[in-house]
Amino acid sequence: MNKYDTQTLQEYDRRYVWHPFTQMKEWEEDEPIVIERGEGSFLIDTDGTRYLDGVAAIWTNVHGHCKKEINEAIKAQVDRLEHSTLLGLAGEQPALLAKRLVDIAPPGLCKVFYSDNGSTAVEIAVKMAFQYQQHKGHTGKTKFISFTNAYHGDTVGAMSVGGIDIYHDVYSPLLFPTIKAPAPYCYRCPMETSDSSSCGKVCLKELERLMADHAHELAALVIEPRVQGAGGMITQPEGFVRTVRELCNKYDVLMIADEVAVGFGRTGAMFACEKEGVTPDLMALSKGITAGYLPLAATLTTQQVYNAFLGEYRELKTFFHGHTFTGNPIACAAALASLDLIEKEQLLANLQPKIEYLKDRLNSLKSLVHVGDVRQEGLIGGIELVRNRATKESYHWEERIGVLVCRAARKHGIFLRPLGNIIVVFPPLSISLAELKQLMDGIEASIREVTE
Ligand code: PMP
Repeated sequence: MNKYDTQTLQEYDRRYVWHPFTQMKEWEEDEPIVIERGEGSFLIDTDGTRYLDGVAAIWTNVHGHCKKEINEAIKAQVDRLEHSTLLGLAGEQPALLAKRLVDIAPPGLCKVFYSDNGSTAVEIAVKMAFQYQQHKGHTGKTKFISFTNAYHGDTVGAMSVGGIDIYHDVYSPLLFPTIKAPAPYCYRCPMETSDSSSCGKVCLKELERLMADHAHELAALVIEPRVQGAGGMITQPEGFVRTVRELCNKYDVLMIADEVAVGFGRTGAMFACEKEGVTPDLMALSKGITAGYLPLAATLTTQQVYNAFLGEYRELKTFFHGHTFTGNPIACAAALASLDLIEKEQLLANLQPKIEYLKDRLNSLKSLVHVGDVRQEGLIGGIELVRNRATKESYHWEERIGVLVCRAARKHGIFLRPLGNIIVVFPPLSISLAELKQLMDGIEASIREVTE
């Protein structure tokens, strides 16, 4: 029995909560769904209505909601120790998790620096890369190269290496300047090539030109490997990440892989970089690290980067960075329980039929009149809606076509959150085939209802 009824909770929400990435004027005029609990692939509201979670609670959920094993690991840890202790003390859970992360990470990544969200994991990588170059005596290497359409988080450093104008423009006087390379967005080629098969190559050529011109001043390159998430689930051509790694080696630029959204199985491999046999110099992880249960993040790096920070205290080589909730033991316990489950339940092997099924369903959506492009990487799908398929004319953002489709999906018992005109498919990795069918049926019906 609820202590408060739905209307009271809606009223409290409207009156007191300021929601992220939300136009609050619009929100205040609406009646929000109030979620009370989760169960497997479903979120359940205060009236008992069940919604299939099509976006894995903002791209984090691995094993479904309220998974018994993770709940129990959290409860057990609460009774042992609840606070972070890494500032001055070592801790059982963070030590065990660091070893475990190094064991599964791309070979060569061997040090783990904890924080508590994806933006800070990237921010830390940026600061580490900058300071590394200073310690190595490359004092002119102070700049960063990143991609158009990139999203790396909302803190100032993470926004500086980001590339989504609509999110970042207002803050531009606050941000440090970076060099932007064109990201391969083959449906709308930034280099205006007519041959879509060469799109990635043209972008790489331009990237190499920029890196060659700026090598003397570049500390690091930042990339979301295999798929740019918030930019619109934009997938990269095969081999792109590997060539980026080669260019970083050639021009002596550190490579930062932001695996915040794609890490922990989402692409069908444990980490996206693995799909191209790449080890970055720094790798940012969050979201799926605790299967979505608790805030935790990690920035992994190599012995080479770590060694540059070793010295006498007076040399000021220390990495002067650390957050209060760094490596919280409850979050680490949840992460360890999740990694146990990934192994025990053979998550990666079990994903394959679901990835194949998603592929078929996305392909069949291409026949809808207002579906311009479909993209897939592992258990991630992006469906780009267009007003005119022949000309690729977009819907104007004010039409809120993505929002309307996601609204319609609620009537089919599905919760989705769009990225502009792109419908995102990002369910818990544990979703069953039957649930995935329900999700794709609902998405297809909703697109038809709104656009046809
Ligand atoms: N990097 C990527 C690739 C992301 O997708 C996100 C979040 N969507 C972030 C960084 C930021 O993570 P957080 O929201 O936890 O700060």
